[in-house]
Amino acid sequence: MTPPAHIDAYVTASTDEAWRAVGLDFFPDGSGPDTGFGGRSIPAAGIVLIGDPRVGEDYLHEFVHVVLSPTLHPGNAVFNEGVAVWLGGHDGHPALQMYPLLRKYQSDHPTVTIAQLLHGGAPGGSAASDAMYTTDALIVQAIFHRSGIPGLLRFAKVVGSSDSVLARLPEFVGLTAKESIDGWWRAETERVASKGQSVVPPVRR
Ligand SMILES: [Zn+2]
Repeated sequence: MTPPAHIDAYVTASTDEAWRAVGLDFFPDGSGPDTGFGGRSIPAAGIVLIGDPRVGEDYLHEFVHVVLSPTLHPGNAVFNEGVAVWLGGHDGHPALQMYPLLRKYQSDHPTVTIAQLLHGGAPGGSAASDAMYTTDALIVQAIFHRSGIPGLLRFAKVVGSSDSVLARLPEFVGLTAKESIDGWWRAETERVASKGQSVVPPVRR
C-alpha cells in the first residue's frame, strides 16, 4: 500500500468556505440536518477539506479517506466509511465515544434492523446517520479483531450495495447459520460500548 506523496489540506471556518477554497460556490450535500461544519475530501486529488473550527486541523476522518482510498478503491461503503470512523472518528468524536451513542440509538429504536440503517431508511434523523457511521466502524473493528489486516483487505474487496455487504458479513464476523446479523449487531455494540475498548486494539489472530 502506497500512501499519497502529497496531501493538500484546507482548514476553513465552515464546509461552504472549504468548498469555495477549491473553486466550488455550491455543493449539494447528503440529506439530513446540516450544521454547516464538517470535513470532506477529494481522495483522487489528494485534497482534504476541513470546515469545522470545533475540530480544526485534527479532522482525522478525512485524512484516512485520502490516504487509503487510492489503494483500496472502489471497496464498499461500509469498509470505506467504517475504516475512516474507526481510525479517524466521526464528526470530531473518536469511535470510542460513538459506541455508547450507537447503543442508545439501538435501545431507543428496538425494532430497527442493521439493513434498514445501512440503507439510510432508519428513523431518528441525525442520530440514525451517526448510528450508521458508527455501525460501519463496529463492523470494521470486529473484522480486524477476528482476522487482522488480511481480513480487512479481503473485506475491502467485497464490492456492491449494502445488501451485498450484509450478505457476506456472517463469514467475516464469524457467525454460525443459526445466529442473526441483527442479534450480532446489538450484542457487539453492547460489548464494545460497555468495555470501552481501545480504538485500535492489538491484532488477535
Ligand atoms: Zn467519510
